[in-house]
Amino acid sequence: MLAQVSISPHSQLPLIHVVNEDDQLLSNNCDASWYLILKNFPWENYREPAAFYYNALYDFNISTEQKAAPKANKESKSEGRQRLLFSRATMDKSASVMHEMKAKRIKKSVVLPQSVAPGVVPKRLGGKKPKCFFALFKSFTGACLMGFAPEPEVVHNLLTSNLSFARVCGFIPNNIDERYWYRSIPSLRKIEQFDQIMTEYGLWSRNKWEEVRRNIEQGIIKKENELVGDTTHYHAYSGFETLSYVDAKGKEKKKSQSKVTKNCRCEDQENCPHPWELADDGAGTIVKSNGKMIWGHKASVLGFPRQGVALDATAIADAATFDGETLLPHVEMLFENLPEVKPWINRILYDSACDNGKLKKTFLDRFEIELKASFNPRRTKPVTENLPVGMAKITASGNLICNGGFEMDYKGARFDFEKFIYQAPFDENKVSVCSGCPHKPLCSPQSIKGRVVTIAFDMLPSIHPDDPPMAKRFKAIMMRRPSVERMIKRLKRDLSDDRLRKRGNDSFQAYLDKTLIAYHILLRS
Ligand SMILES: [Zn+2]
Repeated sequence: MLAQVSISPHSQLPLIHVVNEDDQLLSNNCDASWYLILKNFPWENYREPAAFYYNALYDFNISTEQKAAPKANKESKSEGRQRLLFSRATMDKSASVMHEMKAKRIKKSVVLPQSVAPGVVPKRLGGKKPKCFFALFKSFTGACLMGFAPEPEVVHNLLTSNLSFARVCGFIPNNIDERYWYRSIPSLRKIEQFDQIMTEYGLWSRNKWEEVRRNIEQGIIKKENELVGDTTHYHAYSGFETLSYVDAKGKEKKKSQSKVTKNCRCEDQENCPHPWELADDGAGTIVKSNGKMIWGHKASVLGFPRQGVALDATAIADAATFDGETLLPHVEMLFENLPEVKPWINRILYDSACDNGKLKKTFLDRFEIELKASFNPRRTKPVTENLPVGMAKITASGNLICNGGFEMDYKGARFDFEKFIYQAPFDENKVSVCSGCPHKPLCSPQSIKGRVVTIAFDMLPSIHPDDPPMAKRFKAIMMRRPSVERMIKRLKRDLSDDRLRKRGNDSFQAYLDKTLIAYHILLRS
């Protein structure tokens, strides 16, 4: 460590500027982008969230003092299990599909945004000065930027083991004595408390929407007329039990559910008055396309396909929910939080889980949005019989293959005759592939421009003639759909971890929000 002391000739005050060699190295290292982002953090933009946090902290400190006595509860553990089972979103059709957190409200605002800055914390929040919001917020964001899970124990590890990180966040690493000082690196308990307050008062979520909005306002995210969506899973930090229940038709069924527990420390939990709760609400069995089952949490992701930018990731109330049910409520949620985006959108791309006529109609009626879903070829078998001469098969997606092994070009539909039209493709010299084909004498002896085939709509009942998946336009649009997979990879692998360390959907949503905050801050740099 070098200490440079310079004394200005016009002033009696010595200006002490401490330069740490490690910090300078990081400043010059292009691989350590997290360092520069945190160093040049535009804290002026975060005064409002900071004041909000300090007010929430004040509210939190007061409200923990007054705990209401619970009402008597005679429910047995197995009754609790069944009650919780039937209130899950996959069982109760009136329950919300997307996770909706009930954020705590602040009763009294005492801290004003202008009064806070990095290292300048409100004086009277009842006793000791609190830890700096800006430093804590940067610590969580920094953890993501470095590719770690934004969770308290990880943040605490980083702050105590990487002193350049602690300094650039705004903490002073001089914990020689154990006494509390608001500028020193916080204890794990204080970091946990910050995360808890940010989660319970909905501050991670508020900040996430602010980050997205800022990127739109600054033109970092540009206008697009399409959205793309998909779901993704994270591994739950919990176990499950398999429950038997009787459904509405009187049939016995089985379902995996999180274990039940009580959120109290009573000795006799079987008989105490507190209610039974799911140990990990929101977790459920997710069946992947290969049949693999995962015990986890599920999130829905929406973004702009051309730029490949994720706009939001929201937890699904019950991970066992079918993918096709999550798109509509998530789009509604997005438009509510980002109303400026709503008029831009006229098309949404999704995988075959949303290949559903009723859902498409709902999008059209409600938002004038065309929902384009990949065609699900697994539902239908290829057609191999009663085909025109020279043709071998039509795949489930409507691609016609001839006996010469060529895929015919789809040309369009004739609605007056109710037929799809195909023509043999041209080779690289713009000559029909039929000209050199050994099947030509049987298939199309007279043709000069190559074989033309018509297929009746009836032969492909699962294909909608207005929007056939074999059309070039359809294929070109759906080429943009996989960009959502890259967004998911960025959020799940590059900026965090798909193994959760906490239970419950509120924590899961906070985890997604923290990751998205870092994602949108990174977009700006
Ligand atoms: Zn209890």
